[in-house]
Amino acid sequence: MKRFLTVITLLQMTLAGTLVAQVKPSIYLTGYTFSAQKKDVGVLKNGGDAKITHITLSGPDAAAFKINKGNVLTLRSNTVKPEVKWLDVDITAITAEAEIKESFRIVRDQFIHNKVVAHRGAWKNTGATENSIAALKHAIDMGCEGSEFDVHLSSDSVLFVNHDDSIQGLTIEKTPSQTLAAVKLSNGESLPTLKDYLLAGMNQNKTKLVLEIKASIISKERGIALTHKVMAMVRELKAEAWVDYISFDYDVCKEVIKLAPYAQSAYLKSDKAPAALAADHLTGLDYHFSIMQKNPGWFKEARAEKVSINVWTVNEEPLMDWLLNEKVDYITTNEPEMLLKKLNK
Ligand code: MG
Repeated sequence: MKRFLTVITLLQMTLAGTLVAQVKPSIYLTGYTFSAQKKDVGVLKNGGDAKITHITLSGPDAAAFKINKGNVLTLRSNTVKPEVKWLDVDITAITAEAEIKESFRIVRDQFIHNKVVAHRGAWKNTGATENSIAALKHAIDMGCEGSEFDVHLSSDSVLFVNHDDSIQGLTIEKTPSQTLAAVKLSNGESLPTLKDYLLAGMNQNKTKLVLEIKASIISKERGIALTHKVMAMVRELKAEAWVDYISFDYDVCKEVIKLAPYAQSAYLKSDKAPAALAADHLTGLDYHFSIMQKNPGWFKEARAEKVSINVWTVNEEPLMDWLLNEKVDYITTNEPEMLLKKLNK
């Protein structure tokens, strides 16, 4: 019996170890931006349990940085040339258990704060197909704070950007990437992979990329696998400074925070009070306007809980006026031009 228990314990330990390895990043920063006013980029942390005992910096722009007390990655001076949009640094962290190396892109914070999030990009008045790279570029060109898009996993685990779970009769989750890559959108673009989409968005440092992780139509596990794939892609591309996460799947929102404890993770389904989101360390609510109309107390509650407020999909002026009056953080709209014009008045 004792031996059996030991085996079980070992199995649990192994399983727990595997889970930890899956859900914890190796090393990460608490922030990925700098500005003339903000020389402290963020604290370097180990996703595992072992304490970081030594840190070395290398890579192309390493000379611009130093590590301050408390493992804070800091710019040596704020004399980085104004035209430099980002700096790349490789960080090696030594712990009692391992030597961990990761590369990070530290971005000059010129991100816009005008509340305007283009829903599936700016497509309605531009003629671009929704969720196309062209729609993203329009949102960037018109100066939106954020551009939203939706991500699914192909049958062979490649990430594609599309709103619906199927396109041109193909169910994305049941279709191999080779077939999906051949799909043409109505504007002639290929169905974008997440990689191409992120790379297009990382050419600039003004508009955030609001990434919706779609719930799986096959299984909860596949939704979590999609989340892991998305976060691994963001890590691979060093895209942390650009990307905020949203999902209708509450477990996905929580998984984002497990993987990236300082990322922005907001919940879309509109069925939980702000305090409940805060208790689970989510950073924002992203709710339908009708739900906020029914729960006017949630504006105040969200602010008290330091939960950001985004409201979708707001396409009419009276609703925009009401939400601006409520001082929400973001308004997700198919009419970014209308909202931008209103804000510029
Ligand atoms: Mg969406």
